[in-house]
Amino acid sequence: MDKRLAYDMPVESMLGLAPIMIDDTTLRDGEQTAGVVFANKEKIRIARLLDEIGVHQIEAGIPAMGGDERDVIEQIAHLGLNASVLGWNRANIPDIQTSLDCGVDAIAISLATSDIHIETKLMKDRPWVIKTISECVTYAKEKNPDVYVSVNAEDASRTEVGFLMEYAKAAKDAGADRLRFCDTIGVMEPFRTYRLVKHLVEHTGLEIEMHTHNDFGMAVANAIAGIHGGATWVNVTIGGLGERAGNAALEEVVMALKYIEELDLGMDTKRFREVAEYVMAAAGRQIPVWKSVVGTNMFAHESGIHADGVIKNPKTYEVFSPEEVGLVRQIVVGKHSGGKAIQLKFHEYGIELSKEDAAEMLPRVREMAVELKRALFDKELLYVFKDMQAEQKAKGA
Ligand code: MN
Repeated sequence: MDKRLAYDMPVESMLGLAPIMIDDTTLRDGEQTAGVVFANKEKIRIARLLDEIGVHQIEAGIPAMGGDERDVIEQIAHLGLNASVLGWNRANIPDIQTSLDCGVDAIAISLATSDIHIETKLMKDRPWVIKTISECVTYAKEKNPDVYVSVNAEDASRTEVGFLMEYAKAAKDAGADRLRFCDTIGVMEPFRTYRLVKHLVEHTGLEIEMHTHNDFGMAVANAIAGIHGGATWVNVTIGGLGERAGNAALEEVVMALKYIEELDLGMDTKRFREVAEYVMAAAGRQIPVWKSVVGTNMFAHESGIHADGVIKNPKTYEVFSPEEVGLVRQIVVGKHSGGKAIQLKFHEYGIELSKEDAAEMLPRVREMAVELKRALFDKELLYVFKDMQAEQKAKGA
């Protein structure tokens, strides 16, 4: 009999063979979210926070935009962070020169590789794409041999595989250090992602970075699938902020690697909630309560069966403990609560409630929760208790 747990069934995988590096693009793709602008002060604070929690590379923005954007990238490049600082560029020499002038130690050169982008957006052809990327990488490496060069294949997921390989090889021959596989419109799924990335790694020998979007809710799954296929970099954002439905969320990728794949990147996960709160406030967004990993409902239990399980052993319904990501466990009392949860809640208030009293409170709590269409606040719960006590007294009298 196979005694492994179902979730431990082996996957044919490259995961664990090489270190996994986190490249955060909150300041670039995150800020590209429609309606989001960070102030320069916020950008610097975010860069510091990312560095403090252990991000390996910070994609700081687009130097060619000039003005404030260029200034802040230059400042971030000179903060003395442990993380590498990367500037994003279109595939042209002036953009790349501007990045190099900012003092970043890494650059991304982005060029679309799908025919739909080449023909209808760039209005060029495939030979032009190959020639351009070769020239750009060659230029960057000539100007600064130490600069780390990521070549981005924009819309890689809709690119003919043969041409994607050709593009990757041209980039490598020109001296690129990495190929960023961009699922620009979020149309990949994990099985295809795994096979394609494996193919790219085996046939190009380049480091591969996953850049995945969440249009169908698969950004994190595709990032992990890419790692199984041999990708060693993941491009993420705090809270999954990013264009349209967003990017793979840093905290989800890191915690999934740690708890699903048993690969601990050694990041300061305890600050995940704090960092997400800062970034979302700066972005003028809210963290949905049901958000994976950092949402407050991650550790809120209401249903009688779940609350009872968690009270007896948190591992029954929690994969990791709330402290690990800077959250707290909450037993919420509402329509689905059981007597045990009510007893526990009152224990928190310093009141030892008998089993009988807890049972008597249940229908009252349910009625109130249905009426209000929500869980009860602590005070409301205490009022229910006081009303019950008064009734008991009246009956006894
Ligand atoms: Mn993107």
